[in-house]
Parts: sequence; C-alpha cells; structure tokens
Amino acid sequence: MHEMSLTEGILDIIEEESRRRGFSRVRKVRLEVGAIGHVEPHALVFCFDAVTRGTVAEGAELDIISTPGAGWCFDCEKSTALTERFGACAYCGGRRVQMTAGDELRLKDMEVE
Ligand SMILES: [Zn+2]
Repeated sequence: MHEMSLTEGILDIIEEESRRRGFSRVRKVRLEVGAIGHVEPHALVFCFDAVTRGTVAEGAELDIISTPGAGWCFDCEKSTALTERFGACAYCGGRRVQMTAGDELRLKDMEVE
C-alpha cells in the first residue's frame, strides 16, 4: 500500500511545521489529491490515522479535496480535461495525451492549536 509512505511524507511536513511554528496539536489537515492519480482516498484516511498515532496530528480530521485531471494533447496541441488516466483528448479524441494535472498529493493547509 503506497498510501502508507505518502502519509509518512505528509507527517514529516507536519512535524517540521510543528517544530518551526511551535504548535502542539493539529485539528484538521487539508490535502489536495489528484482525481485521476494513484491515491485511494479511503486508504489515505486509514493510513493517516495509523501513521499519526502518538504524534501532534493524532486524531486530526483529514479533509481531502479532489483536484481535476488535465493533460496536453500532442495531436491538436491543446490542454484538455482528463477524467481518467490515459484518457483521450476531449477535442479530437486523440490518445497522445500527456497528463499534466490530476496526479498530485499536496498538503494545502491545516488548522492547529
Ligand atoms: Zn486533441
């Protein structure tokens, strides 16, 4: 389950922030997750709960914001929306589309006390 290492990476960022800003508890964590990426939101929540046990982020609510997929079509040279990984271009139906968005996992912000 690669969500485990992803959430460990997020926890690293949270702990780093906690040292820098001096907060002791995280109430809510907002994550941007690409809609057509490899990350499964349910697995992410499960792993986050497991990984943050005993840390400043223990019990924090995880708010997952889904970010839409997009790609660049080499056939008609346009940016197109993508609803699936390796999807076709919405304009010309071409398959030579390079994904440019929708695969990210980013810590957007968090509520701390
Ligand atoms: Zn196209």
